[in-house]
Amino acid sequence: YRIGGNKVNRKGILIVVSGFSGSGKGTLMKELLSRYPDTYALSVSATTRQPRDGEQDGREYFFISKDEFEKMIAKDELIEYARYVKNYYGTPKEYVRKQLDAGKDVILEIEIQGALKVKEEFPDTLLLFETMDVIESRMNRACEEAEGMDYYDYLVVNDDLNMCVEEMHMIIQGEHRRSFRNEAFMKTIKEDLERLKGEN
Ligand code: 5GP
Repeated sequence: YRIGGNKVNRKGILIVVSGFSGSGKGTLMKELLSRYPDTYALSVSATTRQPRDGEQDGREYFFISKDEFEKMIAKDELIEYARYVKNYYGTPKEYVRKQLDAGKDVILEIEIQGALKVKEEFPDTLLLFETMDVIESRMNRACEEAEGMDYYDYLVVNDDLNMCVEEMHMIIQGEHRRSFRNEAFMKTIKEDLERLKGEN
């Protein structure tokens, strides 16, 4: 055992990123994934909203009908789901579970109701809130979104994309060193020390 594990044997961390609409989350996530493709996996949500120009089924979202969505709920195939502006959004379980098992740190880019549900079900989840240094008036939902900021573990300020990507990477990788994420490692050290004491 090594602290934090190496990339082969360590468990992935589940990470939720929320933030103000227009804070550039999408760009930030894309950059993080392209710099560290072996470390991170981005979950693709299911939604009942219509695809926007340039969006591809299976890439930005799985675009499905309300019926199909309700079937996924009934079959317990979602980690969480929420209604947001009259549409359903939800995180499929299967992909997330597989990626975590493979040792990837899995990022969910979801809104706050969903974020809190994930945290409740999986208390080890790391919650990151993305904001920018200047709040723009065009963001009419910002007030509502700001309400929940204090529930998150870290704030990431996206004023410079390059720095922000590295900062986010350091926060997440530092998180692997938290003692509660290394209980097996600590147990091994204690057992080894006990054994050494017994031998002397
Ligand atoms: P948009 O329609 O602009 O792509 O997304 C609207 C909001 O839904 C964003 O805040 C986005 O983060 C959130 N969202 C996307 N996927 C999910 C999901 O699977 N679950 C939840 N709870 N929110 C999501």
